Parts: sequence; C-alpha cells; structure tokens
Amino acid sequence: MDKKALYSLSYGLYMVGSRMGESVNGQIANTVFQVTSEPPRIAVCINRNNYTHAFIAETGVLAVSVLDRETPIDLIGKFGFKSGREFDKFKNISFRRGVTGAPLLLEHSFAFIEAEVHDRLEVGTHTLFCATVVDCDIIRESEPLTYAYYQEVKKGRAPGSAPTYMGERQGKEGETAGRSPGQGGGKYRCSVCGYIYDPLQGDPDAGIAPGTSFHDLPDTWVCPICGAAKEEFEREV
Ligand code: FE
Repeated sequence: MDKKALYSLSYGLYMVGSRMGESVNGQIANTVFQVTSEPPRIAVCINRNNYTHAFIAETGVLAVSVLDRETPIDLIGKFGFKSGREFDKFKNISFRRGVTGAPLLLEHSFAFIEAEVHDRLEVGTHTLFCATVVDCDIIRESEPLTYAYYQEVKKGRAPGSAPTYMGERQGKEGETAGRSPGQGGGKYRCSVCGYIYDPLQGDPDAGIAPGTSFHDLPDTWVCPICGAAKEEFEREV
C-alpha cells in the first residue's frame, strides 16, 4: 500500500469556528465538504483533542470561513498550530458573530457557511460533524486557498492533529546538512509546528540569506509557518 495515493485527494483550507457561552474559538481545517443539497448540509472533521471540538460538541454550532489565496501564513499558524486553551485566537483579528453566534473571519475570508450539527460520527481520533446550513453568503469575489497551494506555494505544513497528517511528509529535510559554517550551525526545529530552519536555505521570504546560521537570525525573526519566536526552536539532532 502506498499512502502517497492519499496525497492526490484535493482539499480547501478553512477556519472553522464555534462558540461556548460568550467565548469563541476556531481552528484551521481542510476536511469540510458538502454532503447534500436539499437540505444543504455539510460535514466537518475535527480532532477530538482540539479545543474547537469541545465548543462544537457543547453548542452544536459551527461556522466555516473560506480562506482566500492571499491568507498570510501567520494567520494559518495562529489558528492552525496554536490552541485556544492558551490564548484568545481572535484577539486583534477582525471578525463578527453570525446568526449562530459562531465567529466569522472578516479578513482573508471571502465566503462563509454557518451550520447546526444534526449528527456526529466518532472516527477514532476525530469526530465527523454533519451539520445543516442555516446561513451562508459570499462576501466578495476571490480565489479559495487550496491545500495544495498552501503546501506547494506557501510551503505550509499540517499539524499532527490534522486528519490528513502523515508524519513522514512533514519537514522535507531529506539529507542531513550537518553543521554549516559559523557558530550555531545546524538545523533547528520549531517546537510548535515542526518547521525546520535549515541554514543552507535561510528564509528568503523574510530576507534571511542562505548560509545564515540559526544564531545569526535576528531576535525579531519568527517561524514562517506558525509565528513562534526563536526561543521556541530546538536544535535538530
Ligand atoms: Fe512554527
């Protein structure tokens, strides 16, 4: 069996939000799909350990914000690689509450779907929530961010909690670079999202030239995937 066949499935990328009391939380999900048109129903697959899962299970409401292709990687990092148990993901984020009270992104989202859960299927590590659409709209014309575009163009990765996560595909470091010239050479791994900083490649998007050792990165440099600070990185051994 070659699990790479599963890579050929195509997906979008969405922010799935919910509420609990007055609190809101949300996460990035790629497993959102329509299941029937009459009545319009969707299904969303969420890891049972995720905080958003507790919100959806409690209130039975969810809102899907469809992300556009210009969505910055740090927004995906904020919603996809960090837990709402530790901080308010919606702080400094432009959003509004929909008819269900669930949060809808007002930035980098061009369409939304709100739904009420009518059925759920436990699937091992995840729950598949089937939900009836109660409101949806297109906010403006745009191109949706696909999972393939996120991975190939934005160099994004999947967290371990994603239904489509495959450990062996994370961090395509391949051959070992060993120590590069300069103090503090070698690769460093982000403890939050698993991104590996390779000094041989640098971080051109952030203006970091190839050959820059981890220690020579400016203190203001952050993980390009999740936005974690340098202190969150550990030496790859
Ligand atoms: Fe990271």
